[in-house]
Amino acid sequence: MQCPNGCSNPMQNVRVERIFYDSGSPVVIRNLEMNVCPECGCESMPVKSARIVENVLSGRMQAVGQFSAPLFQPAA
Ligand SMILES: [Zn+2]
Repeated sequence: MQCPNGCSNPMQNVRVERIFYDSGSPVVIRNLEMNVCPECGCESMPVKSARIVENVLSGRMQAVGQFSAPLFQPAA
């Protein structure tokens, strides 16, 4: 897959952990497939992953556990 910014290297398929918000409540999806451009860092979500996010946010997918972690925020 080619980067939408027109970079010469093909995008790489990586698996990430992402936080999404389900009507204000955070949910974490692990092992989510994303395409990332190694040159400019542009990300795009494959249709397969978009469908997973949709299933999670619509409650069609069951949670396999709970996730909690310290939150860090740099000073503005
Ligand atoms: Zn790029």
